[in-house]
Amino acid sequence: MKELSVSNANTLYQTSLMSALLSGVYEGETTMAQLREHGDFGLGTFNKLDGELIAFDGNIFQLRGDGTARRASPEQKTPFATMTFFNPTNEYHIDSPHTREEIHTLIDQVISQNAFCALRINGEFSRVDTRTVPEQQRPYKPMMEAVKQQPTFHIKNSVGVLIGFLTPEYMQGINVAGFHEHFIDQARHSGGHVLDYQVERGTLTFGTVEKLAIDFPHDQDFLNANLSPENLREAIRAVES
Ligand code: ZN
Repeated sequence: MKELSVSNANTLYQTSLMSALLSGVYEGETTMAQLREHGDFGLGTFNKLDGELIAFDGNIFQLRGDGTARRASPEQKTPFATMTFFNPTNEYHIDSPHTREEIHTLIDQVISQNAFCALRINGEFSRVDTRTVPEQQRPYKPMMEAVKQQPTFHIKNSVGVLIGFLTPEYMQGINVAGFHEHFIDQARHSGGHVLDYQVERGTLTFGTVEKLAIDFPHDQDFLNANLSPENLREAIRAVES
């Protein structure tokens, strides 16, 4: 493990809350262009829950319900996204096969369980299991029901980029506690929300984030939503893992 030189404190910018998404607040006002002002790297979704968002190197891609990917346009909007300017402080060369769990253990050994962490893997993956939510229509169902129909994909032998965040347990509901990762292949043609993977070779970079800024929506959907349901933990586990 190599330590990289540390630059300025990183800020995590977030629009809305995971608990709002969970309860069916699927339309936000924040555009991709606005997200880019807050970071070059991140995860999220699109209005109407139309696929998964993955951002890195300043580019934002939409991973759609059929497993395909495309570049997001600056006017597209998101109901929930997390962005930062990626400044990794640690680098690890992956020269033998690592499971998802092994990658997470590597990070857990360096990063405190109470810290936010952004991570990236550029690598050759023998297997990436993904899913993407299909576009929803009003009246919106809670996410737990919406994801019941979501297809899963098994991407084999793919070079690509995996972007993720590690969020502390005390932030459950505000964001997704634990590891949350999205993947896109090198051709930028397929990817999704990551369920599991094995990486054969590549580079893992990661670093902590020291500040958090949240833009709260003020539309009726958000203001009327139940943002602390009793089954919050179970619901997030069901939709995000
Ligand atoms: Zn996701």
